[in-house]
Amino acid sequence: MRILITGGAGFIGSHLVEAHLEKGDEVYIIDDLSTGSLDNIAPYQNNNRYKKRIFFQRESILNHEAMLELIGICDMVYHLAAAVGVQYILDNPLESIKINIQGTEKVLELCTKFKKKALIASSSEVYGKHLHAPLVETDNIVYGPSSKFRWSYAASKLMDEFTALAYFRNKGLWVTIVRLFNTVGPRQTGAYGMVVPRFVEQALDNKPLTVYGDGTQSRTFTYVKDVVEALMALMEADAAAGEVYNIGGTEEITIMDLAKRVIDLTGSSSTIQLVPYEKAFVKDFEDMHRRVPSIEKIKKLIGFEPKTDLDTILSNVVDSVKRQKKNR
Ligand code: UDP
Repeated sequence: MRILITGGAGFIGSHLVEAHLEKGDEVYIIDDLSTGSLDNIAPYQNNNRYKKRIFFQRESILNHEAMLELIGICDMVYHLAAAVGVQYILDNPLESIKINIQGTEKVLELCTKFKKKALIASSSEVYGKHLHAPLVETDNIVYGPSSKFRWSYAASKLMDEFTALAYFRNKGLWVTIVRLFNTVGPRQTGAYGMVVPRFVEQALDNKPLTVYGDGTQSRTFTYVKDVVEALMALMEADAAAGEVYNIGGTEEITIMDLAKRVIDLTGSSSTIQLVPYEKAFVKDFEDMHRRVPSIEKIKKLIGFEPKTDLDTILSNVVDSVKRQKKNR
């Protein structure tokens, strides 16, 4: 099979690249390297088993000609290219909206033209402000005002979902949508705000771990390889077409407890520093207090269950950050 992965040089994308190469497929990657990195795919480009089956193009997904050619030759498309990370969105609001809305529309339009299967990566951000758990795909959603830019990401991803579902209903496109909850693992960078790599880097440097707010906010973290398995299984599941699925973990932890776990695991002498939200982000920033997915729907379809527990995830991230530091 020929697989196109937009954003394939990114954190999740590069793990998906590896899994499809391992399966024997030819893998095509389009990535503008805005948040992705060639270091993420270099090990495969330099590996004798894979190097003849991996093709990389540094290009924007908004480039019509490039996308026309790639979608034309591939059998299926995983659309992961997007502006990601709260900090990145706040720093680049216009670019983020453009890439998320116009980029996804391009993928959907061309997949329809060439009759190719598509998987669209959405986000748990789509759930907006809520106080309950677990979050179910059919839940109502409430967003903050448009003056608070954090919500632009949620709104753009929700628009992507509407557009994908409209292509499914009106144009007969085979498309499935996944709402990814905090996915973590080796190669994720802390540069755009992601908490796990940031805490691990801070702990290994024996610097204070920066817990935003009072640290009572909670998340569930899912290991990237578990997520990749789920994405591949969904692509093979006929009934996934025209549906939206949560993909996430089940082990809820507060950010304060996460910081303590990272300090324990690394044996670091770091302390914990509480940072008010207005110092970490912009004034009036709103964080999600709790974010726990219901995974009943995807479990019913493909038997998905996260296999990797938080301690294993964290030790794998620690090993990977240590390796990166050595190579710097
Ligand atoms: N966070 C934190 N310290 C950091 C980075 C993030 O306390 O250095 C918090 C952040 O405010 C949020 C949680 O960790 O409550 C998860 O943040 P991340 O950016 O990883 O993902 P989000 O769930 O916000 O998309």
